Amino acid sequence: MTAGNMELFDAGQKGRGLRARREIITGEVLLAEPSYAAVVFNSLAFQVCHSCFRRQANLHRCAQCRFAHYCDRTCQTAGWEDHRQECAAIRRSGTAPNDNVRLAARLLWRRNKDQGLASDSQLVPVDQLQDHLEALPEDELKKLELDVQSFLRYWSCGTKQHPAEYIRHIFGLIKSNGLTLPDQRGLQSVGLGLFPNLSLVNHDCWPNCTVTLNHGNRSAVSSTLHSPLRIELRALGKISEGEELTVSYVDFLNLSSERQKQLKERFHLDCSCDRCSRHIGDDLMAAAAEGKPSADAVKEVTAFSKETLEKVEKARGDGDHGQVVKLCQECLEKQEEVLADTHLLKLRVLSALAEVLSCLRKFSEAAEIARKLVAGYAKLYHPNNAQLGLALMRAGVAHWHAGQVETGHKMICEAYRIMMVTHGPNHSITKDLESMRSQTEVELKALQQVLDMKNQPMTSSSSAQENTKDFLRKQ
Ligand SMILES: [Zn+2]
Ligand SMILES: [Zn+2]
Ligand SMILES: [Zn+2]
Repeated sequence: MTAGNMELFDAGQKGRGLRARREIITGEVLLAEPSYAAVVFNSLAFQVCHSCFRRQANLHRCAQCRFAHYCDRTCQTAGWEDHRQECAAIRRSGTAPNDNVRLAARLLWRRNKDQGLASDSQLVPVDQLQDHLEALPEDELKKLELDVQSFLRYWSCGTKQHPAEYIRHIFGLIKSNGLTLPDQRGLQSVGLGLFPNLSLVNHDCWPNCTVTLNHGNRSAVSSTLHSPLRIELRALGKISEGEELTVSYVDFLNLSSERQKQLKERFHLDCSCDRCSRHIGDDLMAAAAEGKPSADAVKEVTAFSKETLEKVEKARGDGDHGQVVKLCQECLEKQEEVLADTHLLKLRVLSALAEVLSCLRKFSEAAEIARKLVAGYAKLYHPNNAQLGLALMRAGVAHWHAGQVETGHKMICEAYRIMMVTHGPNHSITKDLESMRSQTEVELKALQQVLDMKNQPMTSSSSAQENTKDFLRKQ
């Protein structure tokens, strides 16, 4: 089976896989697939549009079930075909069941309608995806059984009944293949969806592709120009003809043993990728500082850092920003002479601290911390990794707000370059970056003009610009 520039093939031990049918260039979209079925999490049902999955204020409520919410009429109309039967089922049962049950029902309504293949380019029928039920531990199976019972009650008035065994398989495949969907700024997970073709792409800890959710465009004047919510599989670099396409199911910033553990638990797979078999990156992620501290000191600071990160997590949950700053600063001081700048525990503390300092609008301090963070990330991540791009964007904004416009502008440009590869020109994050790039450029030019007017020698040092900015403020 083929679809556009890729085809299904037997990937040996990994089972089915997808490979390129011709040479692919960096940033090329290999697959753009609308969700086969998707739901907004119940907990966010009133804050996220059930059609385009954007997080918005003032959503319009479905007058019939009072559960589904939409940006506007356009989104409601576009989402009606997927919501019609759900709307009736929620009204019948008086309440919406949990996320998994709603997704399973949406999947089966769709399945009944189109017999499993939504389009010519769908490579396998949705119910032929793997369920990995045999690998589920006892307590997970019990939870799954509760979902099956809940589903049968919810579905009871549906037209076609399904045997419990089949429903179990559907819940298993949702568990193995369901993808959490972020909001339009990539800040929060807001829902769960199924994308049959994407499910065929195997994992690699150092993948050649990345997955992005595009929320589509329904703002165009003509509805023929509207585009739906879809995932996009994009090439992180050049891919040769015949090469297998891979994505990473877990964050690369973990030691190989930890990644393998996560992959086994969540996806029932044993990773034998190059990074894992040769433990590439582990040395940097667990490195001691250059001054060669004693093994005991490393052990002590490692334990202290882990404890601190737990406390930080709790303080963040409580919204106690002051406490997060205090804990992180104390920990960074201890780590300074002992752990390297690429050590995972140091990066996690830096990440938490930069985020909170930005929230507190302490931009100069946030900028300094964020600069260390991206320097560490850059040594570990693939140069086109989206996480690196997002970190650069946050660091760039912190520098800009701290008045360090030139450094901020450079970081924003670099973030923009990465996002053009991983998210493409039409994603809202890329568009945000594009507008920040031009704003910082205008500010830089204005600063330069003031410098020229004052007839000072040309300089590009940020301290000179600092002075000029102060001068501008005083005018
Ligand atoms: Zn919407
Ligand atoms: Zn409704
Ligand atoms: Zn691996």
